[in-house]
Amino acid sequence: MAKILIIDDMPGNIKTLGEILRDRNDIIVATDGPGGIALAASEAPDLILLDIMMPDMDGFAVCRALKERTKTASIPVIFTTALTDTDDIVRGFESGAVDYITKPFNPRELIARVNTHLELVKARDQLTIYAESLEEMSRQLLDKTTQLNISARTDYLTGLANRIHMMERLREESARSRRGGKPCAVIIADIDHFKAINDTHGHECGDHVLGSIADIMRANIREQDVLARWGGEEFLFLLPETDAAGSSVLAEKIRGAVECERISYHDTIVPVTLTLGVASLNPEDDIDASIRRADEALYEGKRTGRNRVVVAPGA
Ligand code: GH3
Ligand code: MG
Ligand code: MG
Repeated sequence: MAKILIIDDMPGNIKTLGEILRDRNDIIVATDGPGGIALAASEAPDLILLDIMMPDMDGFAVCRALKERTKTASIPVIFTTALTDTDDIVRGFESGAVDYITKPFNPRELIARVNTHLELVKARDQLTIYAESLEEMSRQLLDKTTQLNISARTDYLTGLANRIHMMERLREESARSRRGGKPCAVIIADIDHFKAINDTHGHECGDHVLGSIADIMRANIREQDVLARWGGEEFLFLLPETDAAGSSVLAEKIRGAVECERISYHDTIVPVTLTLGVASLNPEDDIDASIRRADEALYEGKRTGRNRVVVAPGA
């Protein structure tokens, strides 16, 4: 049942309107403007039938007041008026009414108009709910997309950037370094004899070691550096505004930190060392060529005994 507020100073009008509408609606009544405004705010009716000619505060003023208050602004107002003067009808619409009905009331017309506006209210409320749920869905979709974007660029085991993310950053930083004429370098770090760690202590221990090594590395880099898990037990550092000499200092620091760390797994200390290859990102080389040079330096380090830093020739 819809709730309809009748605001009218004439008991006869209230009685007539009530009789016509009572069957299918809840009727509440106010006999003057201020009372009607207060009742509209407290009862939140679905529709208001408002008389124009009332002492003190006329229907136009009441309608304007209703439209100014957030609580009552969206309640449709239908003027009930003896006036057929078009100026008054226009004034009614200007003050915010949606319709008007002239006295004497034709019951079928009254019911038809009231029902039309009640249907409109229902449709508007449904649209509001629908729009809100669409907004919520699009918020959730945006959150999900952001999460997916992050996880598509993150290594699940270590939480570091993955190869895809690193490739993007390599392209960005090498372009920036070329434009700004500033140096930029890469370090590839590979865990020594990692297969033996897996074979001796199990694959889970290997995973734990990877996580611990990632934490040590993360703790030793600057904010602008990018660190990625580049492959199984390989890590790549991208060091903007750093030359080969500066990079080899960092590589040595990380090598030393990993060597000194007592990584334990189920009460067993697992000794871990790293071999690291350093190369600058030469402006004339492409990214792949620079990474290849770092890789060759790394394998030189493996050949010559592991647990060491090798800087690529000419870097
Ligand atoms: P080297 O000193 O020459 O680097 O020897 P290595 O044993 O570290 O290198 P190798 O390439 O022979 O073996 C790498 C091993 O890393 C083999 C592979 O099973 C293991 N591995 C790769 N990814 C993961 C991973 O996500 N978790 C674990 N636990 N092991 C991994
Ligand atoms: Mg290895
Ligand atoms: Mg390897």
